[in-house]
Amino acid sequence: MTTESTAMSSPNESTPPVLGVPALVVSGFLGAGKTTLVKHLITDAQERGLKLAVVSNEFGELGIDKALLQEAGGPGYVELEGGCVCCQLTNELLETLQNLWETIHPDRIVVETSGVALPFETLMTFWREPITEWVGESLAVVVANAEQVAEGRDLEGTFEQQVSSADIVVLNKVDLVPEDSLGKLEDILQDMAPDAPMIQSIQGQIDTTVVFPPTSNQTISPKRTSKPELIPHTHEAFESQELSIPQNITPEQLVQQLQPLQALRIKGIVNTSQGLKLVQGVGPRIDLSAPPPNLPQEMIGRLVAIRRK
Ligand SMILES: [Zn+2]
Repeated sequence: MTTESTAMSSPNESTPPVLGVPALVVSGFLGAGKTTLVKHLITDAQERGLKLAVVSNEFGELGIDKALLQEAGGPGYVELEGGCVCCQLTNELLETLQNLWETIHPDRIVVETSGVALPFETLMTFWREPITEWVGESLAVVVANAEQVAEGRDLEGTFEQQVSSADIVVLNKVDLVPEDSLGKLEDILQDMAPDAPMIQSIQGQIDTTVVFPPTSNQTISPKRTSKPELIPHTHEAFESQELSIPQNITPEQLVQQLQPLQALRIKGIVNTSQGLKLVQGVGPRIDLSAPPPNLPQEMIGRLVAIRRK
């Protein structure tokens, strides 16, 4: 094998944010409302002045939604066709993401899979070189259609595989089922994905801080405080809370302190007895890993937790 060394950086290449570029894989069965959710994520990013790149793999579906997304998504919107992004097109996805990074430097990444794709398999692309160099936390968000779950349609096979590998489950279209049945529907999904936080939505109008939690240095930015509240349809309200964590806490103590909070998301940097750790929590799962280099001092010792109000 001959390998030619390729220049990975150019003088004007922008550096990724300290914690990397957050990435979501949006999956869900046919008719779950993935495209509507992605449109909401595009609008939200525009309101926050953030660049969102969307890669869509709506395999074999009608083109009308694509046209709408194209209009809303602008130059950071790429369609991948000719196969499934979780198995056949993994190299194409890798190249597309790297190309998006080099050309538009997105602040956030969303990959919308087709209704038959498996989110975990898609997520694995984010752990590959060279994109793992600049991608931060990557999560699988699985959208489930409340009406489909209520009717017990197609709950085995692909649907169950998708839900069981979700980091976050969005129970969408909750306006189409009786309100008193929602607890039962959540139980069905929770059996498939016991550790995944679950949020309810109508037309994909989720509170985006649950999927893209702010970091401590972002919550104090003035841009955010002027953000208009445009979440008219959510049944649930979330709050973000900043926690100060004392130095030299052991990783075990830290996890013990965080788990009872029952936060949907936790993110930040803590100076533990075993050194600096990047702390990322999704529901009861709290992960500690090596922090990125060149951390601003003010990020250390602070965690942001997103919780139900
Ligand atoms: Zn596939």
